[in-house]
Amino acid sequence: MANQTLGLKQHIYNYLLSVSLHEPEILTQLRQQTAQHSQARMQIAPEQGQFMALLVQLMRAKKTLDIGVFTGYSALVIALALPQEGKVVACDVSEEYTAIARDWWQKAGVTDKIDLHIAPALETLDQLLAAGDAGTFDFAFIDADKRNYDGYYERSLQLVRPGGLIVIDNVLWSGRVADSQVQDNRTNRMRAFNQKLHQDLRITLSLLPIADGLMLALKHP
Ligand code: CA
Repeated sequence: MANQTLGLKQHIYNYLLSVSLHEPEILTQLRQQTAQHSQARMQIAPEQGQFMALLVQLMRAKKTLDIGVFTGYSALVIALALPQEGKVVACDVSEEYTAIARDWWQKAGVTDKIDLHIAPALETLDQLLAAGDAGTFDFAFIDADKRNYDGYYERSLQLVRPGGLIVIDNVLWSGRVADSQVQDNRTNRMRAFNQKLHQDLRITLSLLPIADGLMLALKHP
């Protein structure tokens, strides 16, 4: 669950950041505070956040999903990239982590853009589908418990519009998916998930070796 790009030598990574990162101060502060947290490894990498913000702007996205909030970095980086009327529907089960997130969203002035749902994300996504929100989202970021990745993916695929994008974190799983010696359930589940997406004719696929591996799935028209 690297919070910097996997396999890149430190000095090259430092250089990459030095010539490309434009992280707003509020996100730097959030990241520095989260670095002290016991679950700090769940924090996404700043170059990854910046890339997702670029995607959101490129697509002119307005309605987005953030599945797995933690201390709020991904929802905030997306919210800051959205237009005034943009929305992030944010899903998490933890009151404790999202209390930190809410604090930062307030400081950043984006609380109006973020609808936080404290519930198992599968339930929230099913509620959105039941409410008739299928095909209305532009963008979804999946970065929650890996056990439910397939469920999050299938629901997100229904919720995004044709031409909408689903971005899935940690698909390189610190490289363990590429090591045949590693045969634990979590690694095998991630392998099966990646293989499924590779064969999925409903999407156009790209796997970027940024951070811990970022899968991009563009829903076909
Ligand atoms: Ca992650």
